[in-house]
Amino acid sequence: MAELFYDDDADLSIIQSKKVAVIGYGSQGHAHSLNLRDSGVDVTVGLREGSASREKAENQGLKVATVADAVREADVVVILAPDQVQRIVYRDEIEPNLKSDAALVFGHGFNIRFGYIKPAEGHDVLMVAPKGPGHLVRREYVDGRGVPVIVAVEQDASGNAWDLALSYAKAIGGLRAAGIKTTFTEETETDLFGEQAVLCGGVSQLIQYGFETLTEAGYQPEVAYFEVLHELKLIVDLIFEGGITKQRWSVSDTAEYGDYVSGPRVITPDVKANMGAVLADIQSGAFAQRFIADQDAGAPEFQALRAKGQNHPIEPVGRELRKLFAWVKPSDSDYTEGSAA
Ligand code: NDP
Ligand code: MG
Ligand code: MG
Repeated sequence: MAELFYDDDADLSIIQSKKVAVIGYGSQGHAHSLNLRDSGVDVTVGLREGSASREKAENQGLKVATVADAVREADVVVILAPDQVQRIVYRDEIEPNLKSDAALVFGHGFNIRFGYIKPAEGHDVLMVAPKGPGHLVRREYVDGRGVPVIVAVEQDASGNAWDLALSYAKAIGGLRAAGIKTTFTEETETDLFGEQAVLCGGVSQLIQYGFETLTEAGYQPEVAYFEVLHELKLIVDLIFEGGITKQRWSVSDTAEYGDYVSGPRVITPDVKANMGAVLADIQSGAFAQRFIADQDAGAPEFQALRAKGQNHPIEPVGRELRKLFAWVKPSDSDYTEGSAA
């Protein structure tokens, strides 16, 4: 059984006694900064010159400084810029200004696991990774709840890295739900696998194939949209509440029987073998290399794939339908706010 932590396992005063610099004010950065501040922690947001995020952070009453200035003062530096830029920000602005005993906190293990950032020996290296999008991390905290977090220590220079990690996890509200003990390697590999094979990659492709199959057979796109996309939310809510069993209990016997006989026809054992190949590319670092090489080249592959996805015929159908249903949140205009998983 995994080791779990709750509020009573952590001492909030540890992080309250530190100066914390949060680098980046995007999906996770804004949530960590605001939750820490509201938990009585001294936070400065570190942003690059001319950052579009500056105004947002200042409007929330947060202290904002350049990355270098924020890091110079900090006992704890939280690196929440996008994964693909972290190594550059670390090399150019964090490392040269870092106190020799400052702790480093990550929200995902990518740069440590694949060796893009190699902190010197004197630093505690921790991860407190919420298992949910940043906007929920903030909303849950405000509502008195929390998003579960994964907690790991890669390097325990001070001998107190675990206490600091748990204190930090408590301050962002994560231990109101639960903290789960893991390692950077396990978090990184499982996080990438989950988002690629199931949550983002697998689900998106499944929806698109379902939509294509129905519309190519002559059914109305709007009806297809409801059947393969809109209803997914309702199904996932049931799975979230009570596992696949609850979903099967709630749907009709017809749907349940169809699930048993057709699910394995669609998702064949080949799919599992393909998942194994995806996992192998994650473990070997091949996926990380491909991602970073593309980013270093100006992200041509990433941008082409994003455009292709946005141009899939299901997208305009959904945009028009969602306008008619004001109760579907978040609205399309929220896309720029951040990304999930
Ligand atoms: P975002 O893409 O939302 O981060 C954007 C922020 O980073 C902006 O404030 C941006 O500022 C700043 N930034 C971008 N480039 C630089 C730079 N060169 N120097 C300084 N700041 C920069 O990131 P996420 O919140 O999505 O991800 C942050 C970390 O959290 C990642 O490690 C990710 O894997 C992890 N994570 C993310 C989750 C999520 O919900 N999105 C869930 C769990 C973990 P500017 O305005 O200047 O562009
Ligand atoms: Mg139906
Ligand atoms: Mg992820």
